[in-house]
Amino acid sequence: MQHKQSKIIRTRVDQTKNHEHSSPLFLTSSFTFDNSEDMRAAFADETDANIYSRFSNPTVKEFVDRLCILENAEAGFATSSGMSAVFGSFMALLKKGDHILSCNAIFGSTHTVIAKYLPKYGIDYSYINTNATEAAWEAAITPQTKMIYLESPTNPGLDIIDIAMISRVAKKHNIILNVDNCFATPIGQTPIDLGADLVVHSATKWIDGQGRVLGGAVVGRKDLIHEIYLFCRSTGPSMSPFNAWILSKSLETLEVRMDRHCANALYLAEKLEGNSQINFVKYPFLASHPQHSIAKAQMKNGGGIVCFELKGGLEAGRKFLNQIKMLSLTANLGDTRSIASHPASTTHAKLSEAERLAAGITPGLIRISVGLEHRDDILADILQALN
Ligand SMILES: *Cc1c(COP(=O)(O)O)cnc(C)c1O
Repeated sequence: MQHKQSKIIRTRVDQTKNHEHSSPLFLTSSFTFDNSEDMRAAFADETDANIYSRFSNPTVKEFVDRLCILENAEAGFATSSGMSAVFGSFMALLKKGDHILSCNAIFGSTHTVIAKYLPKYGIDYSYINTNATEAAWEAAITPQTKMIYLESPTNPGLDIIDIAMISRVAKKHNIILNVDNCFATPIGQTPIDLGADLVVHSATKWIDGQGRVLGGAVVGRKDLIHEIYLFCRSTGPSMSPFNAWILSKSLETLEVRMDRHCANALYLAEKLEGNSQINFVKYPFLASHPQHSIAKAQMKNGGGIVCFELKGGLEAGRKFLNQIKMLSLTANLGDTRSIASHPASTTHAKLSEAERLAAGITPGLIRISVGLEHRDDILADILQALN
């Protein structure tokens, strides 16, 4: 098999003696041994026999193996949510006195972990602008910097960061580069090919793609993943086998789903650009995007999220949401159902105006997670709300 799409569909847990065609779900907390010697050897890490589902589980392994193929990763570990993947990657690899360098446009809960909780353990942080130059990144590194953490495209501002450029800086200073690839998905970009050491995912979003379960994963360098595995197997954020069974099936359709999500998103972005109610539309594959050339170089598609800024600011944003008829008003993204959100009055309302602007969130910014409904129905709902 030459192609990833075939490989992930054909990578599966071993068939049981029942010869089932679909992958079985191993909903079990623990695994049995034939004798004390086998059990001793498993606990001594002399075999890779499953012991307990907090450590490993065949259904979870199928999900991880498939994600590793998609991300070109050596190894991986699956977690109960995206946030436990992010947190696990920090706690396993950083220690008191270390410094983490990140951007001011990162997922809200990740910001809370970095700015509120890591300092409690003596781990310092600083943020840099998403559009900082290579020299500015260099200047932000301290002798204590152990990890660079970034998202591209950023949420919700859809800024694009040059991952290959950051990885040059990270390699030069022997710093771990950890990239949240939730927005692009491995169909849109593979950060490891651009020099990242680790990739974290919220599988809750596009990977599930149908708004059903929470899940997360970290994939990447084997030595680093081993540390994360040891941390997680003792602290307990492991993915449930049931969620892994759902998410592993979802990976089989990720590429075909993302093709349609991204085609719908590009169509919407092109149709909305120039609308008289809108100041600007932001989408990585629109020529008007400030980092369009970087997006074209590192991404295979523009992703499934489109943003636009309403004339009329905060009040216009609230009004727009109230006029929406078909799109869902909900906190998720990456669903078959299109979702509209107004970050300034909801997800990012607790930030100061200055903090919001630094993260690319203007008062009238609307974020659309473009679903799989017919593209003209999505467009029609947005146009009637704009009017
Ligand atoms: C949702 C999200 C997360 C957190 O994932 P959960 O599965 O909700 O814990 C992390 N990063 C990004 C970019 C997200 O959108």
